[in-house]
Amino acid sequence: MSTVNAIAAPSATEPLVRATVERRAVGPRDVLIEIRYAGICHSDIHTVRGEWGKVPYPLTVGHEIVGQVTEVGTEVTKHTVGDRVGVGCMVNSCRECDNCRAGHEQYCLKGNIQTYGGIDRDGTVTQGGYSTHIVVDQDFVLRVPAAIPYETAAPLLCAGITTYSPLSHWKAGPGRNVAVVGMGGLGHMAVQIAVAMGAEVTVLSQTLSKQDDGLAFGAKHYHATSDPATFKELANTFDLIINTVSAPIDIAAYLRLLRLDGTLVAVGAPPEPLPVQVFALFGARRSFAGSSIGGIAETQEMLDFCAEHGISSQVEVITADEVNEAYERVLKSDVRYRFVIDINSLR
Ligand SMILES: [Zn+2]
Ligand SMILES: [Zn+2]
Repeated sequence: MSTVNAIAAPSATEPLVRATVERRAVGPRDVLIEIRYAGICHSDIHTVRGEWGKVPYPLTVGHEIVGQVTEVGTEVTKHTVGDRVGVGCMVNSCRECDNCRAGHEQYCLKGNIQTYGGIDRDGTVTQGGYSTHIVVDQDFVLRVPAAIPYETAAPLLCAGITTYSPLSHWKAGPGRNVAVVGMGGLGHMAVQIAVAMGAEVTVLSQTLSKQDDGLAFGAKHYHATSDPATFKELANTFDLIINTVSAPIDIAAYLRLLRLDGTLVAVGAPPEPLPVQVFALFGARRSFAGSSIGGIAETQEMLDFCAEHGISSQVEVITADEVNEAYERVLKSDVRYRFVIDINSLR
C-alpha cells in the first residue's frame, strides 16, 4: 500500500480539502498511474454533496483521469511503463455476465465497480482521480493517443464516452439530423463527435450566449429553448436528440421535435423522475431512451476516433486549491467547457 496526496470531501456540506488516500500495492494485473490531470464532472459535485445517495466520507472523487504508467504488475501485457493512459468512470466489473461478455461492462448485471465511492474487490471504498496516483486493473485502463494533449484528453473519459456511445448506437452519421440539448461539458463533446460522424447538428441551448462556440464546434444550427418559436419551427425535425441537461425539462416538448422513429436519449440525470406524455411517443413512433457511459472497448474506440478527427475537450486548467471555486462555477454553467485539475499542484 502507499499513501498519496489527494483532494477529499469530508462531508456533504463542507468544502473539499487536501487529504491523502491509500492505494493498494500493485498486483500482478495492476497498473500504477501517475495522474497528470483530472477533469471535474458534474457527477462529482452531485456525489460529494450527497445528492445521489449515501456517500462513504471522506471521499476523493474524479473519474476523468489521465496520466503516465509508472509501474506494471508481473502479468500485465496491455500497458508498459511510460504509456499515456486514462481511466474513466469504472475500474472493474464481474466480467462474466452477459453484458460484460458482450463488452458492455458499464451495464454489468452485478454492477460495475465505480472509480470512486464503489466497493472494490478487496472490500475497500474506491477513491477517484483528484489524487497523484491510482492503481487500476490493466483491463480498465485506456490508451490515450499521443495526438491528444493530456489536459484536453481527461474529459473524454466521461463526457466524451457518455456522448459518443449513444451517438454511435443510434447511428449519428451522414443524412441524419441530430440535436444536442445543452452546451456544457457533455454538450460541447456531443456536438464535435456528431459532426465528425457526419451528422447535421443542431444545438438547443437555453440562450444564444454560446452560439459562436457551438458553430465553431461544427453545429449547423443553434436555437434558444427559451424561445417558444423554437419548438414550433423544429417540430418533426430530428432523428436523434441527445439530452445532456441534468435539470428537469419538458420531455413531451422535446419528443415532438423528433421525426418518425426518432429517439430522445437522456445522458444527463436529474434526481427527480421525469413525467413522459405517452401521446408524444405515439405521434411518430418515437422512443425515449437512456444511455450510460460506454464499454471499455468502445471507450478506446472513442479515444482513437477523437485523435483521428482532431477532437478534444475545451478546458480551463486549475490548481488543486481552486476546486471549490470551480464547483460553484460549474453549478452556474460558468465554464467553457470543462475544468481540469493540474495534478502537479497536489505533489
Ligand atoms: Zn462524469
Ligand atoms: Zn458483469
